Amino acid sequence: MIFQGSVRYPVDEIVIHCAATHPDWMRGQPLTAKRKEIDRWHREERGWRKIGYHHLIDRDGAILPGRAETEIGAGVEGHNRGVIHICLIGGAGSAATDPFERNFTAAQDRALRGLIDAIRAETAITRITGHNDHAAKACPGFVVRNWINRA
Ligand SMILES: [Zn+2]
Repeated sequence: MIFQGSVRYPVDEIVIHCAATHPDWMRGQPLTAKRKEIDRWHREERGWRKIGYHHLIDRDGAILPGRAETEIGAGVEGHNRGVIHICLIGGAGSAATDPFERNFTAAQDRALRGLIDAIRAETAITRITGHNDHAAKACPGFVVRNWINRA
């Protein structure tokens, strides 16, 4: 089991997000540079102490950690305890009901499924949701339960 924060909330949910960036955003730059930019947005625009997501997945399927899994993240207002937040790069202009492949790559599909499996091996995940399951938002730009069931 993974536990978060000093209260040690057990992690039982994964919430998926997108960065709402265009497909060619920071093209050719490493994912570390994109992480740094998202970290800057979260600090400067949201006033958070660091990047809110626990993992980033780039267009080519590369994965990079953000906030430590043992820290409570920041991804859904009022719904962060015991949650691991994963953010897919891309998704600008997406709608909540789009199919995954309209906004994201096959490499991201594989990477996301692999990352979910890896997290499941470490903690008892009971729910995998999208930001749009918790708020009236397009993010992550697909219906997570449909995508999960398609595998
Ligand atoms: Zn989101």
